[in-house]
Amino acid sequence: GLPPLYIITPTYPRAEQIPELTRTAQTLMNVPNVVWIVSEDAPVPTQAVVNYLNETGLKTVYRRVMMPAKYQKVKNKPRGVANRLSGLEYIRENAKDGVFYFADDDNTYDIKLFEQMRWTQRVSMFPVGLVTKLGVSSPIVRDGRVVGFYDGWISKRRFPCDMAGFAVSVQYFLERPKATMPFKVGFEEDGFLRSLGIKPHEIEPLAFNCTKIWVWHTQTKKNQPALPVVQNKMTVGTNLDILKT
Ligand code: UDP
Ligand code: MN
Repeated sequence: GLPPLYIITPTYPRAEQIPELTRTAQTLMNVPNVVWIVSEDAPVPTQAVVNYLNETGLKTVYRRVMMPAKYQKVKNKPRGVANRLSGLEYIRENAKDGVFYFADDDNTYDIKLFEQMRWTQRVSMFPVGLVTKLGVSSPIVRDGRVVGFYDGWISKRRFPCDMAGFAVSVQYFLERPKATMPFKVGFEEDGFLRSLGIKPHEIEPLAFNCTKIWVWHTQTKKNQPALPVVQNKMTVGTNLDILKT
């Protein structure tokens, strides 16, 4: 059968959480042989999330972990790192083959991307739309090889790319027990890819030699914080009468 795809989605409690997870879930419902690892950065599991995962019909894994306290205090936080690491721990302990991908809860995915990344041998890469003012972050491909990167923020990164811009073979990852993601804002992708020891020329360019954008770094406008009763208790079937009390 098809190699399994492990989709690691970091998420955290806020008014937009269930809407974001609904969009992501309904995208993944169109993809066969997926394990959706939803990893929540929260002090306690959000009941609405746990309930929603159970009703998606997808094969889901729920993880919960908190961003270490020292990072919570700073303004520019390493968002989603603790929970991605928890997802990687699940892969190390449970996966044998297939491919994994970090899919933030708020991005937009064309399902064509999942069918291509499923065949990743080591690390595959592809363009991500709506990244920086340039509008796209992408490997530069010549004669089928990655020869550089186009990104609005190169800095000192060897792999200037977005978290949504690459997928990794499970076996390749398992063969590298030290591979991990650093709590280093802006350098999470670069640190992770460096820790895998992948060479730029070994990267497999997808999306027709990186000529198609099949994932976008969309960002949802922050709404007014929802009343706790709405965020936590209101699910389909709960009447709005609860708000009158
Ligand atoms: N996230 C998280 N904890 C946080 C903030 C964000 O787990 O305190 C998750 C979020 O749900 C998303 C990912 O980390 O899946 C990246 O966060 P965000 O989308 O806010 O960052 P941006 O896309 O703006 O860089
Ligand atoms: Mn985002």
